[in-house]
Amino acid sequence: MLKRKLEDVPVFDLSKIAKKIRCEFGECKTKLGLTSVPCKCGFSYCSIHRHCESHNCAYDFHGTQKAELTKKLAKVVSDSLENRI
Ligand SMILES: [Zn+2]
Ligand SMILES: [Zn+2]
Repeated sequence: MLKRKLEDVPVFDLSKIAKKIRCEFGECKTKLGLTSVPCKCGFSYCSIHRHCESHNCAYDFHGTQKAELTKKLAKVVSDSLENRI
């Protein structure tokens, strides 16, 4: 008959884990300071992987740029149409 003691259950100190911020790029795991600002994609990276190109950023920069470009193009098209009329 096995009686489980409370001490046998592994207790995770969540407060300690939360304070450990590490670079989330693959196997890098470089310790980051508490002042490190996460990327726009929501992940924190070290100085090496901070650049969007370095961590294959998931933030939709291109989508944003495309949307703005589409707006500009639409404006150009409407302007040229107005000029023709
Ligand atoms: Zn890194
Ligand atoms: Zn990013």
